[in-house]
Amino acid sequence: MKKAILSGNEAFARGAHEAGVRLASAYPGTPSTEILENVIKYPEIDASWATNEKVSLEVAIGASFGGARALVTTKHVGVNVMADPLFTLSYTGVRGGLVIVVADDPEMHSSQNEQDSRNYAKFAKVPMFEPADSQEALDFTRLAFEASEKFDTPVFIRSTTRISHSKSIVELGEPVQGLPEPRLERDPGKLVMLPANARKRHPMVEQRLRDMAEWSATQGFNRVEEGSGEIGIITAGVAYQYAREVFPEASVLKLGLVHPLPKGLIRDFAARFKTVYVIEELDPFLEEQIRAMGIEVLGKDKLPICGELTPGRIEASLLGAKAELPLHSGEVIPNRPPNMCPGCPHRGVFLGLNRLKAYVTGDIGCYTLGFLPPLSAMDTCVCMGASIGNATGISRVLPPEERSKVVAVIGDSTFLHSGITGLMDMVYNKSAATVIILDNRITAMTGRQENPTSGFTLAGSEAYEVDLEQICRAVGVKHVQVIDPYEIDKTRELIRSEMARPEVSVIITRRPCMLIKRDVVEIKPPLYVDEDKCTACKACLKLGCPAIEWQDREGAKGKCHVNKHLCVGCGVCEQVCKFGAFGVCHVE
Ligand code: SF4
Ligand code: SF4
Repeated sequence: MKKAILSGNEAFARGAHEAGVRLASAYPGTPSTEILENVIKYPEIDASWATNEKVSLEVAIGASFGGARALVTTKHVGVNVMADPLFTLSYTGVRGGLVIVVADDPEMHSSQNEQDSRNYAKFAKVPMFEPADSQEALDFTRLAFEASEKFDTPVFIRSTTRISHSKSIVELGEPVQGLPEPRLERDPGKLVMLPANARKRHPMVEQRLRDMAEWSATQGFNRVEEGSGEIGIITAGVAYQYAREVFPEASVLKLGLVHPLPKGLIRDFAARFKTVYVIEELDPFLEEQIRAMGIEVLGKDKLPICGELTPGRIEASLLGAKAELPLHSGEVIPNRPPNMCPGCPHRGVFLGLNRLKAYVTGDIGCYTLGFLPPLSAMDTCVCMGASIGNATGISRVLPPEERSKVVAVIGDSTFLHSGITGLMDMVYNKSAATVIILDNRITAMTGRQENPTSGFTLAGSEAYEVDLEQICRAVGVKHVQVIDPYEIDKTRELIRSEMARPEVSVIITRRPCMLIKRDVVEIKPPLYVDEDKCTACKACLKLGCPAIEWQDREGAKGKCHVNKHLCVGCGVCEQVCKFGAFGVCHVE
């Protein structure tokens, strides 16, 4: 048997390959992004970035209706975006298997909230598997496709950051053979969800969940690990690993399918113990359902509902241990606060917004870092695409003298994801705010994924490059201007003049992300600071460029210094310094 060390995300991709998936679609989102980036290693799978999560699910639904197996991957908040088709897909069911891998982010390492996607499984009446390591990530992906077709349902697989990004040994299998070829088959009674058809499908959905609960009680993915003592533990996912570490001797009911629950199995297990702990991250999802069965358990009354669990947190909560078990060797790791990269094209824009004292409604992407000091130029940030609608609402209720201060900022990818409708609404409802589209030609925050502005597909082939200016004009924006954000004085002046305009205007600040792999970015020699010219005014430090360092001098004024290993020669600091202290290094 061939083995490999795979991250959870690599294992999901491998599972898709072994399951015979024909199409995969996603919008990038940490911690799920690498699944699709690994899926493209399997050339038989037609994998693509979608413009948003709703579209990705709709594309997969189409493939499934055509008879092919289809995979969708998303981060937890992406399920909110795909919720509309999801709830109806639950009624139509599938033709080819359809699996949605959703990666939650407990502790919010890279997210705006901590929502627990298991609630969506219950809400949408869609079964959900929850793997506890990379082997299960692969095995459950295969199994999920089989279950999807056997029970005529979409199937969720829930991951979390630790499962997606941790590596463990995985036994690889062979791809399934003999799946039917995709072909058109009309079945409007099943696939056209008008009320008369939907009413017939709903009882089928309820029966399906009962059937799956019965089936799951007999399957190996829900297993009892016998131990000793009077404590029984019910758990799933990564929490299983932590529970095993803290209670190595205890008996454990490890659930692989967290919705629907195998109630008989749970009842029989719980009846054998004096104390039953339910150990799970985030919401008391299992706990509430088990309590509703009349079983007394201990869970969130002791364990934290917020953040990630760790063995130490479980030990402290359930056993009263004073200190957490150490999570690492004790070595001190220097703090590395998030920051825009050296040469980031957004830096000058936020410096300008700060100087203009704009009220900035922000959005999701690298540029959310404009919130942090020293730029400190973001006042709101809610979700993907919200900045424009937020700006519309706030400017419509403000007095005229304050209205002009409102500026929405949104990235190119986020604008295409869900900003266009907000802009259309802004024009249609005669609002008057300035919108800045920070166009860096890539979906940068998640690791530089292609999008319709980049002109390339996931697989790297050339694609039609969407024209943002034309889109803005098409929805009715009369004033659309494009500027290079490296020209910081011109950019600030343009923002100032557009803010004064009593109608909607869009500024597109266009400059590719410094980290784009393709050779679109010109790398320039680094800059240096002439210490004789530097007056220590610290104006350049207000940019927050990681390459600019402050050096204290004993008995003298400190000086600025450029770290030439970080500097990419963008020249923005040179424009900020009024004393001409920056110069360009000569490179042989
Ligand atoms: S802006 Fe110029 S003069 Fe002021 S601290 Fe920076 S390098 Fe020195
Ligand atoms: S040129 Fe200045 S602003 Fe640009 S990366 Fe170098 S130090 Fe930073």
